[in-house]
Amino acid sequence: MRRKFLGAALVALAIAVPAAQSEKLDYAALGRIRDEGLSRSQVMDHISWLADVYGPRLTGSPGLTQASEWAMKKFTEWGLANVHQERWKFGKGWSLVRFSAHLVEPQIQPIIGYPNTWSPGTGGVVTAEVVRADISTEADVAKYRGTLKGKILLMQPARRVRMLEGPIILRMGEKEFAEADTTPVPAAPAAAAARPAALTRADIQKFLVSEGVVATFDRGTDSDMAAGGSDLTWQQQHPDGGTIFPSGGPTRTEDSAAVVPSVTLAVEHYNRMVRVLEKKVPVRVELNIETMFYPEADMNGVNTVAEIPGSDLASEVVLLGAHLDSHPYSTGATDNATGSAAIMEALRILKTVGVKPRRTIRLALWSGEEQGLLGARAYVKEHFADPDTMQLKPDHSKISAYFNSDNGTGRIRGVWLQSNLAARPIFQQWIAPLADLGVTALGPRSVVSTDHVPFDEVGIPAFQFMVDRLEYNARTHHSNMDFVDRVQRDDLIQQATVSAAFAFMAAQRDEKLPRKAKPEVRVAQ
Ligand SMILES: [Zn+2]
Repeated sequence: MRRKFLGAALVALAIAVPAAQSEKLDYAALGRIRDEGLSRSQVMDHISWLADVYGPRLTGSPGLTQASEWAMKKFTEWGLANVHQERWKFGKGWSLVRFSAHLVEPQIQPIIGYPNTWSPGTGGVVTAEVVRADISTEADVAKYRGTLKGKILLMQPARRVRMLEGPIILRMGEKEFAEADTTPVPAAPAAAAARPAALTRADIQKFLVSEGVVATFDRGTDSDMAAGGSDLTWQQQHPDGGTIFPSGGPTRTEDSAAVVPSVTLAVEHYNRMVRVLEKKVPVRVELNIETMFYPEADMNGVNTVAEIPGSDLASEVVLLGAHLDSHPYSTGATDNATGSAAIMEALRILKTVGVKPRRTIRLALWSGEEQGLLGARAYVKEHFADPDTMQLKPDHSKISAYFNSDNGTGRIRGVWLQSNLAARPIFQQWIAPLADLGVTALGPRSVVSTDHVPFDEVGIPAFQFMVDRLEYNARTHHSNMDFVDRVQRDDLIQQATVSAAFAFMAAQRDEKLPRKAKPEVRVAQ
């Protein structure tokens, strides 16, 4: 159905577009790229090194640095040029040293949980009484003052856990392709609801520290539906059942002495404690959290860069990017060892088949994505433009396009056009020789929340590949269960091969890709 529709669109295009605009594709080279990518893929090996050996890769922690060094070793082995790191200032790093938690009253039970990032430790094993406490206003502080010393606090009510129903695997079908073809009109901003004078997170933490609270436990978000990023409306259930999505802890800029240790628990374990406490039966937990901080003086944000030099247009660049950093709760296999491995493999494929690109094809593995696209932002500011002034650097005119790989293990089903509609007729021709691999869709809308955004913000043609989410929204994204077992080999091999084909086609065409209008200076928010 979908293919038939696109076929019709291509016929229409052939009539509407003058011959001069048709893409001159090198089908022989594309054939070699496909053959190497599909038949002799090494992408699963890259994934296992990045996730199994060097995961987790929180920015500012040793895992990320080791992953970057390993990637550089591979780039050098493959004969890539200009292999180097570019460092930028991230701030305080963090890693977990030890964690264990057991319910010891009313019965022994091992607890599934994970300390929040930048949580301080408990200073050894502590056995403490667990209590419910809702603290959000000055009145709450007055109510609890002097009662919380040596306690562990449950600061959320129980969350209802629904039985799983419907699919938790998201592979694009007719309905999702139809949705991707549309551009939703942004909702009007909601009026701020009137609330009682609520304390800030910092105020509450200050109170908890002054009280001598041992730790706080939470059971993650109130919602058991993951929106999966603001680019897609498709929602999926969180499966719970031991899979947790830690969030809401301290940030790297907070003073670790001004916050109490905090842990996200499996919702079922959290809810059990709440239900026992409601019966006035005591709950006690034995807890040990040990964490390590790394000084912010180092330039500990690391971007990892390598390239295949171009020929007649060597000064112009096609850039493939993916974030190498992850959250620490698991090994970041699908977020984003998959995207990193796919673009690494793309350059390996291109180098191995010996294509001589016209433009330079560069790869960059970002860090700090999870804290706000920081590595990509630093790179854009260093090389292309300052988004605050829109002062352009000479290289701004030399980059043809940026392609980003994030959102998991799924195969590439198309490209989000980022409202750059002039790119559509070009990509329509590029995806034709990839249609049998499942690449058929060009979604007009702008998508957000990953590393193409800083490029788009300064007017560089920047695109996020549209990938099948599979279990990304439901199970792996920012969870404690993002392991290599969730990576789908065939899909990822396709992802790497298609990335290579796109980089090659962008490098070969006579013109750089069309640009949108130069953006206005960003308004401070
Ligand atoms: Zn992420």
